[in-house]
Amino acid sequence: MKFSPAVSSLQPSATIAAATKAKELKAQGKTIYEFTLGEPDFNTPLHIREAAIEAMNSGKTHYTPAGGVPDLLKAICQAAKRDYNLDIEPQNVVVSNGAKHSIHNVLTALCSPGDEVLIPTPYWVSYSALVELAGGVPILVEASEDDGFLPSVEALRAKVTDRTRLIMINSPSNPTGVVLPVELLREIGELAVEKDLYVLSDEIYDKLLYPGASTQCFMTLSEEIAKRTIIINGVSKAYAMTGWRIGWTIGDPALIKAINKLQSQQTSNPCSISQYAAIAALTGPQECVGEMLQEFEKRREYVVGRIKDLPEVSFVEPGGAFYVFFNVSKHFGRELPGGVTVKDSTEFCTALLEQAQVALVTGDAFGAPGFVRLSFATDMKTLEAGLDRLSEFLKN
Ligand code: PMP
Ligand code: GLU
Repeated sequence: MKFSPAVSSLQPSATIAAATKAKELKAQGKTIYEFTLGEPDFNTPLHIREAAIEAMNSGKTHYTPAGGVPDLLKAICQAAKRDYNLDIEPQNVVVSNGAKHSIHNVLTALCSPGDEVLIPTPYWVSYSALVELAGGVPILVEASEDDGFLPSVEALRAKVTDRTRLIMINSPSNPTGVVLPVELLREIGELAVEKDLYVLSDEIYDKLLYPGASTQCFMTLSEEIAKRTIIINGVSKAYAMTGWRIGWTIGDPALIKAINKLQSQQTSNPCSISQYAAIAALTGPQECVGEMLQEFEKRREYVVGRIKDLPEVSFVEPGGAFYVFFNVSKHFGRELPGGVTVKDSTEFCTALLEQAQVALVTGDAFGAPGFVRLSFATDMKTLEAGLDRLSEFLKN
């Protein structure tokens, strides 16, 4: 079968591919220590699930407005005021089928063929693919481990051309967990103002911050910066709601209207029941977020301690999200258990899975060769056993 150029050149999501492979091996009866997907292992809190049941039982099972029900748009505005002291109106918000869909819609709405989008590395796997799907050109701007994975404004500035349309940032970051200092966020915003660009600020992990880390919603940095800002957020990570598929975009009413138009042709609307669940998440008790965060924090402490003890491995400590991204390149070209040698992170992940049954995601997928990503959004017992095996694998 002949496919369109867009689909022919598209790679499957590496995070999802790694998780699928681990699940296939598990289905064959193998024990796999799986640290691939970035999704909370907790069940969605009870009051949110109950709101969904109530929505179904009261007949909220029909099409909704394309960009989300008015009560959810209102709840997002109220949460923005409560959480960031940000004043927005429902006309600034559009709800989509998960934050991934929100990002795709923003790029589809803004990019003309050949428009350039600056993406600091390491970046979340789907960014470059979604830019390409929208007809844009991803321009990667390297941020190195030595610089704590903080992108340099000068490096970004050097890549701005007549075709540059927007800068995509993600703090706390997937895959590094790095939280960009507020001053750096402001400098990036000022560059966007100076060069007449937009900033897509993906803040999906903003509620998952560990002690000592702090951030600020990009739209609150200054009035001028706010005009150039597009915020992406959703309920997947903070409320353990990955399967419900609710994300949103906050931006200029003209952009929101364009995305509404797109969505009306594309998906009609996000799932009605999930929208009511998201209202409960945003307006209900927020303690559940803190409780899950506390659990993540324990795991983070544990995992960081264990990875520090691994031979010839380095990393930048995550200040948020639930990933550790570590450099295993010193192990390339050496004999590993099973007599194998590997030349890159992708081969490293394959050898680790085959020899030690530990599943990680290759850094190659995040634009960072030499690294691998471990998601610690899983239970302590699996983390302990998996890290024991990883440690044995590297010491061998
Ligand atoms: N942005 C980042 C940085 C992510 O890690 C994810 C994880 N899936 C998303 C967006 C998309 O989230 P959602 O589940 O809401 O589509
Ligand atoms: N964002 C998560 C991850 O990076 C979920 C998988 C995906 O959507 O790519 O693992």
